[in-house]
Amino acid sequence: MKIGFIGLGNMGGPMAKNLAAAGHDVTGFDVAGVTVEGVAQAASAPDAAQGADIVVTMLPDGPILRRVAAEVIPAMQAGAVLVDCSTVDVESARAVAEQAQAAGLGFVDAPVSGGIGGAQAGTLTFMAGGAERDFATALPLFEIMGQKAVHCGGAGSGQAAKICNNMILGISMLGVCEAFGLAQKLGLDAQKMFDVVSTSSGSCWSINTYCPVPGVGPKTPADNDYKPGFAAELMLKDLNLSQAAAGAADADTPMGAHAAALYAAFVEGGGKGRDFSAVLPWLAGRHRGE
Ligand code: NAD
Repeated sequence: MKIGFIGLGNMGGPMAKNLAAAGHDVTGFDVAGVTVEGVAQAASAPDAAQGADIVVTMLPDGPILRRVAAEVIPAMQAGAVLVDCSTVDVESARAVAEQAQAAGLGFVDAPVSGGIGGAQAGTLTFMAGGAERDFATALPLFEIMGQKAVHCGGAGSGQAAKICNNMILGISMLGVCEAFGLAQKLGLDAQKMFDVVSTSSGSCWSINTYCPVPGVGPKTPADNDYKPGFAAELMLKDLNLSQAAAGAADADTPMGAHAAALYAAFVEGGGKGRDFSAVLPWLAGRHRGE
């Protein structure tokens, strides 16, 4: 297939590289002038999109996606499909879907889970929203860039799934960090706490797979001085998206709101650039009045 790929950053770069390595004809564009092995470089986003069967975008946020889509949609050939893999607000995904549809194009919102490691290894999970036909067109690409793709429903459903998942993740990580703090105050060894909770009803991904305590559980960013992994500011971005969506849909998400406020304080108070599990030492320091 002929593929245009716009946004060749930490995630988009390796994703485009994997598509090219699988034998697709990939032309990429990034405002930062990034080059990627096996990917032809276009002079602009519309240039990358011209003549492509599928255009993939992997951009920082909704306003940038809207700007890029407005440039790219008029350049795309009839019947082509625009696949946005960025994490953006549900409203931006739906607005771009409408624009694409009006221009006779397909659209799939397909945010990912799995991080930079998953993008490099081609093991991402895609959660997709859009028409069945457009999902089917994009599926062979998802199968190269990832190991699982779930068609969640109409346009915007992929973004909805992503922000609900990450709202759970933010809340559960805070809960796990709080519990380790309490356990320590109660004189309970962190390893013993892990041994019990990871096989009890408190078990969850945040403790079993991504334990925030150094030296306890599987190897995680906590064992690498909390270098991301999944950076705290990206978790804050996703929590803010879930709060914006909750406001627009009139959903009651008090725990999500509290998690967003705590991550905002953490990012502001030195957490920027650290893994999101570094709330553990931050909460301990806050308690000591640091
Ligand atoms: P990044 O900042 O590394 O990459 C974004 C790229 O977009 C940059 O290279 C930037 O130069 C480029 N860009 C910005 N404006 C552009 C424009 N107008 N035209 C062309 N290129 C433009 O970010 P990333 O980590 O690759 O994340 C991309 C998206 O994936 C985000 O929405 C993020 O929330 C999501 N995501 C990231 C992770 C992760 O672990 N990094 C995990 C899941 C989802």
